[in-house]
Amino acid sequence: MRVAFLGPPGAGKGTQARDLAQEWRVLHLATGDMLREAVATGSPLGREAKTYMDQGALVPDDVIIRMMAERLGAAASRGFILDGFPRTIAQAEALARLLKDLGQTLDTVVYFDVSEPELLRRLTGRRVCRKCGHTYHLTSNPPKRPGVCDACGGELYQRDDDTEATVRNRLEVYRRQTAPLLDYYRQRNLLVTVSGEGPLATIRDAIPAAAGAVR
Ligand code: AMP
Repeated sequence: MRVAFLGPPGAGKGTQARDLAQEWRVLHLATGDMLREAVATGSPLGREAKTYMDQGALVPDDVIIRMMAERLGAAASRGFILDGFPRTIAQAEALARLLKDLGQTLDTVVYFDVSEPELLRRLTGRRVCRKCGHTYHLTSNPPKRPGVCDACGGELYQRDDDTEATVRNRLEVYRRQTAPLLDYYRQRNLLVTVSGEGPLATIRDAIPAAAGAVR
């Protein structure tokens, strides 16, 4: 499986990608996670990315493409789920070139369809475990003990870019820069749509069928 998950911030791509990558035994390549790791370690990449991320803006294409070029080589033969990449037409074109050089193509792009009020609700209520990355929601998926991860006991925190003002900016950036990818992949017959609303398990069950992964 070589699949990309596409959709606005808060659509649930990360949650589903983590589960399905395990089940399909493929790599989960999440550019947001890679960048947050780089910020946490204080690497030059992290220092450059942080100013953009804090404002909810996209990190420049050349930085992202270089980062993904390093990872895709190892991932392409094993299969992968791309989560949060590509986010611009330039990134989509770079991805196609990188895969072509590896003798591969993208099988499917799964679009997670979620309404804007629901995205706002999800993102501003989201809490993330510092240790294992597991995500919760204050009202719809709260941890058993407030502020503590059920899975590993780690501390839960709100991402800097999940505050309301930044979330509104991220949604605007999505509309302007990422939504054009829907037509881009539709024209190439790669796009399938799943509803990203409703119970997690229902969404999860819809993805393999949509992505053509049902054996
Ligand atoms: P995410 O966790 O996918 O919501 O990403 C968090 C932030 O990382 C985004 O708001 C961007 O600033 C940056 N980012 C992640 N992926 C990309 C990408 N493919 N292109 C540009 N910026 C990205």
